[in-house]
Amino acid sequence: MRDRVDVVVVGAGFAGLSTARALAGTGYDVLVLEGRDRVGGRSCTGEVAGLPVDLGAAFVGPTQDAVLALAAELGCPTTPTYHHGANLIHWRGRLRSYSGTVPALSPVNLIDVARIRWQFARLARTVAVSAPWTAPRADVLDGQSLGQWLQSVRATASTRDLLAIMSRVTWGAEPEAVSLLHALRYVKAAGGLDRMLDVQGGAQQDHFPEGTAQMAVRMAEELGDRVVLSAAVHAVEHCSTGVTVVSSAGTVDAHAVVIAVPPQHRAGISFSPALPPGPAQVADRWPQGSLSKAYAVYDTAFWRADGRSGQALSDSGPVFITFDVSPPGHDGPGVLLGFVDARGFDDLSAPQRRAQALAGFAALFGDTARHPLDYRDFSWGNEPFSAGGPTAAVPCGSWTSAGRWLREPVGRIFWAGTETADIWTGFLDGAVRSGQRAASEVIDAIR
Ligand SMILES: Cc1cc2nc3c(=O)[nH]c(=O)nc-3n(C[C@H](O)[C@H](O)[C@H](O)COP(=O)(O)OP(=O)(O)OC[C@H]3O[C@@H](n4cnc5c(N)ncnc54)[C@H](O)[C@@H]3O)c2cc1C
Repeated sequence: MRDRVDVVVVGAGFAGLSTARALAGTGYDVLVLEGRDRVGGRSCTGEVAGLPVDLGAAFVGPTQDAVLALAAELGCPTTPTYHHGANLIHWRGRLRSYSGTVPALSPVNLIDVARIRWQFARLARTVAVSAPWTAPRADVLDGQSLGQWLQSVRATASTRDLLAIMSRVTWGAEPEAVSLLHALRYVKAAGGLDRMLDVQGGAQQDHFPEGTAQMAVRMAEELGDRVVLSAAVHAVEHCSTGVTVVSSAGTVDAHAVVIAVPPQHRAGISFSPALPPGPAQVADRWPQGSLSKAYAVYDTAFWRADGRSGQALSDSGPVFITFDVSPPGHDGPGVLLGFVDARGFDDLSAPQRRAQALAGFAALFGDTARHPLDYRDFSWGNEPFSAGGPTAAVPCGSWTSAGRWLREPVGRIFWAGTETADIWTGFLDGAVRSGQRAASEVIDAIR
């Protein structure tokens, strides 16, 4: 490993690799230090029955232009997520079908969901995505959780339970754990609830048949020996002209460092001199959520023959949302993806997890679902290094106390990562955008 470069990037997720790519493309000598033995971070493609499946980030959709441009440049094709036929919801012990994104559980509930969405959108209009702490009632919005707000506006139990599903899949946390101000900012950064939750026209519209990690692998291939794996960074010494970065693979001096790790995991790095009190709070205030995924592969996508889309919601868990992510074409194997509530699941034995997840699929799609060709699950909350996901579940008070420090450079220390993005924060797209933003900040500073 070299001991002197222009810029060190910590973390080889989409943010870190995008930072390094932008810097290397402008002629800077860059070194990426990644703690895991693979690149991609929260994008990790595994295999089930020999098929690539995304254990982390999978989907992409319209307006995610940064990641779509990256995919096109790297030659990574997308395919539409299957959405023909009826969606299913297992609710209060009954299985029903519905169309669209929000199930019409009853006329009363339909009206209530519309009312809550309207009120949420109205509040979101008052929040500036790039500086949510400046919202007119920021203290009030940040002083209550999404769950408390739903109670205060008298959302019905069904509306609250539907939004709890949204909260679990979006932040890997219950609505009570997420600040209302954070929820408003996050959804606004995605372009609204429809854009964030829909398949057609929304964030789940397409996926990558070869997996999202292919993009990270190709970025790393371009960077060659400028990416060092199994190099966990544990210390950064800094002064007004440069940094010394200490990792398990060696020590390197540079003009600047970009920390492209989830805010919570900044705590794993000791800074000398210590970060000022503002930036030092961020790690504690931005805890990661926790979410798990289960995949089952069948001979065919048998639910399609029954007129079902493979999309389903459930209030009885542990599988609470499913999608059909079968490979393109109609004759091949069928792949069901289930998002699983990590609580009560992650700590089970492998056979117990398999039995629970397949029982969840069977409750939605019938007994055939109990007999897959192959099965795999993955628990992000149990990752030994850089645990958690899909993104930060930001609690009450965080944005108003520490938000302004989330990505504010400290001398020659710069910050990237999807949590720092203003557009599609929490998603691959936000990660790419954050890397590009951090690279231009560094260039301005060290030019
Ligand atoms: C289950 C799940 C489903 C998701 N689904 C989607 C989806 O469908 N679409 C979508 O767009 N997004 C999705 N996401 C979110 C998406 O994966 C993330 O937004 C994105 O990957 C974040 O990229 P990042 O580079 O900011 O952070 P990360 O991917 O977390 O990268 C940070 C890197 O830093 C490394 N690191 C941490 N600490 C250190 C250290 N001290 N030293 C060295 N290295 C360190 C980590 O190992 C990691 O590789 C999902 C995530 C999960 C977990």
